[in-house]
Amino acid sequence: MKLVLATSNKGKVKEIKAMYSDFDVVAYSELMTPFDIVEDGIDFKANALIKARAVYDALDDAGAIVLADDSGISVDVLGGAPGIYSARYAGEGADDTDNLHRLMDAIKAKGVTHSRAHYTAAIALVSAHAEETVHGWMYGTAITEARGRGGFGYDPMFIPLGFDNTLGELSREIKVTLSHRSQALERAKILLER
Ligand code: IMP
Repeated sequence: MKLVLATSNKGKVKEIKAMYSDFDVVAYSELMTPFDIVEDGIDFKANALIKARAVYDALDDAGAIVLADDSGISVDVLGGAPGIYSARYAGEGADDTDNLHRLMDAIKAKGVTHSRAHYTAAIALVSAHAEETVHGWMYGTAITEARGRGGFGYDPMFIPLGFDNTLGELSREIKVTLSHRSQALERAKILLER
């Protein structure tokens, strides 16, 4: 089954391709010039649907199935921020390193060195037949130092529940068994197989 991913984020594409090895997975940026999609939904689910619909419409291929992921980290001591604003927390055009440092600084500014936090992933599937969404979550602790070089985004400052190491220090294999995206993708796989 051919699945078009509505993302050009290399970290996500790598994780999704690894988990969907029995599907023919292609990033939409391999099929067309990537374009800006305004993610102005009120939650992860709305933004995932906006991305999947935009790519589905641009593909102009009635047989296509498009999968979009919208994800982010929510930190308790910051009242759930950055949440849906995770990708642009340090401003428009900010990269993963800018966002990571901005988040560690925001937690420090609250006078603490760590906080409970969780990642959320919403996955939207859009095809000619249906639109579906599923979610996954990963709980843990956000810390104010970056440890390890694995993963991407906020991984060096996130320790999953039950572990002592950050996702930047843990192997990709371990992250796949735990992650918010893996859980959402497992749920999406059930829908695709159906
Ligand atoms: P999106 O591409 O609009 O969904 O933005 C996701 C944001 O959350 C980006 O800043 C990512 O770096 C961050 N993010 C989402 N999932 C993960 C993850 O598994 N690890 C680290 N950062 C993540």
